[in-house]
Amino acid sequence: SVNRLRRLLQPAPAAAATDAGPSSRFAKKRKAANETPAKPVESEASVGVETPVKRQKRHRRKLSKKRLEAAAAAEEARKLGSEKSDKNRRKKGAAAGALIGGGEQGLLASKFRYLNEQLYTLSSADAFEMFKADPEAFKVYHAGYSAQRQRWTEDPIDWVAKQCRLGLPAGSSVLVDFGCGDARLASRLEGHCAKVHSLDLVALNNRVTACDMARCPLGNGIAHGAVFCLSLMNANLSDFLAEASRVLRLNGLLCIVEARSRIERTQRFVNLIERFGFQCQRRREDKYLVYLLFNKSRNRKAGEPLPELRLKPCLYKKR
Ligand code: SAH
Repeated sequence: SVNRLRRLLQPAPAAAATDAGPSSRFAKKRKAANETPAKPVESEASVGVETPVKRQKRHRRKLSKKRLEAAAAAEEARKLGSEKSDKNRRKKGAAAGALIGGGEQGLLASKFRYLNEQLYTLSSADAFEMFKADPEAFKVYHAGYSAQRQRWTEDPIDWVAKQCRLGLPAGSSVLVDFGCGDARLASRLEGHCAKVHSLDLVALNNRVTACDMARCPLGNGIAHGAVFCLSLMNANLSDFLAEASRVLRLNGLLCIVEARSRIERTQRFVNLIERFGFQCQRRREDKYLVYLLFNKSRNRKAGEPLPELRLKPCLYKKR
């Protein structure tokens, strides 16, 4: 290995001759023959005896080195700049995103308000068709409704669930939740009711039966309880009360929660509902809502005219 090391350290004779520069015999030969080397010899040793060509080359190299450095600096600056502008762009993007987000939220909010208004003014048959044609709109409506619900101090479903537990026999009772939304009441009463029929215009989940509750697919007198929790919408409210009366058995429970702002005079509203064959058992009001509990006191006669029931629409303010 020592010999190998020596061999490695010793310059190869041929290589020494090649790299010797203009002072080498090859260069002298070329000079003597007055020939320009096709390829100038570029070794460190060549700097000492610089020809004009070499000087020019060196100058060019220097220049190109400078240019390269300048280009590198420019590239660096560009990168830095673009990083900065990236940051700016991200900032701007975030702001734009917030705006888009805000805009989207605004759009969803106004779509919710529009759909809400439609639900109060259309007939139930038209409302059913509207959402059948555009089930996505129903999701928007319910997202908006859930957002509104978060603002309330009390969730009316709590009161309704409590009344059902108190008033319906455990284990065997059948309840109809008219306008159930996402069927929250059914999940609350699981284990208490034998069956909860959760009805709404669109089935948000598999607990819900999609139908127009003015004509629900349930037999006469099958239910022990019926609920309208903020669902007395549409123009034909009277049909809903008649339908509740039809599916309820005698003495069945009717729970209604409505926005106070929709009811001009609570007593008048109660009297009207009683004309459908119900009797008021309990009545409670808070700042925003009216809570009413009835029982079915009689069967409605066939062809009995429907009392005209009207409530003001519950319109949500633009925030
Ligand atoms: N009761 C639920 C949802 C209230 S929102 C809760 O308290 O969480 C009012 C609901 O009534 C909406 O889901 C709306 O689609 C439903 N609704 C209004 N008119 C209806 C009709 N004709 N048939 C079925 N559901 C109706």
